[in-house]
Amino acid sequence: MKLVFASHNAHKLEEVSFMLTDGGKITSPFELVSCKDIGIVEDIPETSDTLEGNALQKVHYVYDRLHCNCFADDTGLEVEALDGAPGVYTARFAGEGCNFDDNIDKLLRLLEGKTNRKARFRTVVALILDDKEYVFEGEVQGLITEQRRGTQGFGYDPVFEPEGYGKTFSEMGPEAKNSISHRARAVKKFTDFLRENVH
Ligand code: IMP
Repeated sequence: MKLVFASHNAHKLEEVSFMLTDGGKITSPFELVSCKDIGIVEDIPETSDTLEGNALQKVHYVYDRLHCNCFADDTGLEVEALDGAPGVYTARFAGEGCNFDDNIDKLLRLLEGKTNRKARFRTVVALILDDKEYVFEGEVQGLITEQRRGTQGFGYDPVFEPEGYGKTFSEMGPEAKNSISHRARAVKKFTDFLRENVH
């Protein structure tokens, strides 16, 4: 059975594929298909003001065109002292065309002198399977550090320290990070659901 991922991110497709097959140990009943494979090459709009809204908007963009089983995800960093910002604006926090460094610089500037550094990453996965809609969520609580630490990962990894680890995601490396990350938790709920409900 084909399952389309409403995203242009090849890295994420690989990650989901890895989890569906338990790292290549089992055979998945799904053939994961990218948007490009089905002829959707344009950017998929995400204009909602919530992560759930964006994940649903992306999955419906594909479903409304092709009426196929499909899923989409959206992730945000929510900082307590900033009333949940950057949230849906996580990727473009420092403005259109900004890079990861610009975003981190802005975040550290806004938190300068603040003692409440609590934050969480949250991922929402939206799925349409046999014309029914499902939503799965994963989160990881942590702190925003005062300075960048570590060299691995991407995005806000150098300044996000998951609760209880004493290391940033950048210092932990991919294996440790992927065992507790927001995205891994959401994707696990989603892949567990598929395994239980589709044979
Ligand atoms: P997306 O919805 O997965 O594209 O994530 C939106 C933005 O959140 C990305 O552009 C990154 O800046 C940030 N982000 C998502 N996941 C992570 C992560 O695991 N570590 C650090 N930053 C992340």
